Amino acid sequence: MTRQYDHFIDGKWVAPAEGAYFESTNPATLEVLYQAARGSKADVDAAVDAARSAFENPLWRDLSQTKRGHLLRRLGDLVGEHADELARMETEDNGKLLREMRGQLATLPEYLYYYAGLADKVQGSQVPTMNPAILNYTQREPLGVVGAITPWNSPLTLTTSKLAPALAAGNTIVIKPSEYTSRTILRFAELTVEAGFPDGVVNVVTGMGAEAGAALVDHPDIAKISFTGSTATGSAIAASAASRFIGCTLELGGKSPNIVFEDANIANAAMGVVAGIFAAAGQTCIAGSRVFAHRSVYDELLEKVAERAKRIVIGNPIEDTTELGPLAFAAQQEKVGSYVELGVSEGAKVLTGGGRPDVELPGYFYAPTVLTGVDNSMRVVREEIFGPVAAIMPFDTEEEVLRLANDTQYGLAAGVWTQNLARAHRMSRRLEAGTVWVNTYRAMSPMSPRQGFKNSGVGIEHGLESMHEYTRLKSIWINT
Ligand code: NAD
Repeated sequence: MTRQYDHFIDGKWVAPAEGAYFESTNPATLEVLYQAARGSKADVDAAVDAARSAFENPLWRDLSQTKRGHLLRRLGDLVGEHADELARMETEDNGKLLREMRGQLATLPEYLYYYAGLADKVQGSQVPTMNPAILNYTQREPLGVVGAITPWNSPLTLTTSKLAPALAAGNTIVIKPSEYTSRTILRFAELTVEAGFPDGVVNVVTGMGAEAGAALVDHPDIAKISFTGSTATGSAIAASAASRFIGCTLELGGKSPNIVFEDANIANAAMGVVAGIFAAAGQTCIAGSRVFAHRSVYDELLEKVAERAKRIVIGNPIEDTTELGPLAFAAQQEKVGSYVELGVSEGAKVLTGGGRPDVELPGYFYAPTVLTGVDNSMRVVREEIFGPVAAIMPFDTEEEVLRLANDTQYGLAAGVWTQNLARAHRMSRRLEAGTVWVNTYRAMSPMSPRQGFKNSGVGIEHGLESMHEYTRLKSIWINT
């Protein structure tokens, strides 16, 4: 008998109003892991009501900023104590390597400590006026109830990136996690109560995007939506938020270029290309899925990348020796397969991979795939695949590669491999991407702000700047 999870509302487990549950499956073994409540509008209403009451409750409203920081610090300690349990749950849910999830969970307390440290730095200022008898000052206030909607690829990290600044700033929150990874977010919510957050400050409604997710986005008492997911869903959310003039922070899709110049250390660049696209089986928003190599090093890079791709150990993500796990669910596997077929029909060549690898487990595996014979006009190069598929293309000049790299609707991230410092700065300045990595790829920290340019997002996540996403500024004038 698998465990059945209810919603987590107002510090308690609450059964879904319509009594419906859905199954969550391990994508490597296809074993059913648990059932989670299938949230409806009534459940979202209950969660937003709880969050609204908690926001107005003196227990939270009048809590000092210092004490809010203490609570976040305590939550960080608890997450650290439960890191292994949480990492295993995430691996079972989404198929990412246990090694990688352990790494993410090891740094997760740092996210909470970072925002704990910022909780008592939220402040306004005294502003000069043209009349000395009038005192004008500003204060930063919390917004109210924040709705957070998150995807399945890094559930806890992406949820914490929203929850920590939102709570540090004094808001309350209702989270709708991905229907593929409900369990760790529910466990995390339990830990917030253990850490001492008052009931109702953190609430979780599980379920489908078009049901619970849409009900949360459209709820009139939500003061802000913070969303990470696909560009298509983000666009629908932005339209709903705009109709009510509420703010939204959107972290969306990508099709990031990873550019290797002739003066790069090619061995390092090849490893960066492999990690950029094959880590997490390519299911990362920042995946370096478009690889541009200078024509003079193109063959060498291709050979190194293909050679490493063929040696990647594919299997159960729970094993320490595994380097690539399954895709997260059946539709992901179908989508990746159909993109590779589409690429071939457009003229691409499959240098390596291109199908289900020989793995004994029944899960949704897809081999690390390298496509050549591609160019920027093909859909396989223009659209986000969200799988282990690299398209590798040659270029001749810096101007040409800049134009190709920027010729995309997305602007999330970019990689540059070069030993020429002036070129590194030039490229960093001119690439249309919110994050640029030079001679590295995928580095991330809660201290560093990130923003998706173009169709990759709105607003800022992480860093000091993200605190402003969760406050509003009031100007107060006093006649003295
Ligand atoms: P998705 O947009 O399908 O779903 C994301 C979340 O939105 C889920 O919780 C889902 O249930 C919910 N949702 C779906 N439809 C909704 C609706 N109409 N209203 C409200 N909520 C709805 O995305 P996904 O497949 O879960 O995640 C993959 C996508 O996320 C990729 O495009 C990836 O690039 C992006 N992503 C971006 C970042 C970033 O920081 N920019 C990080 C991770 C993932």
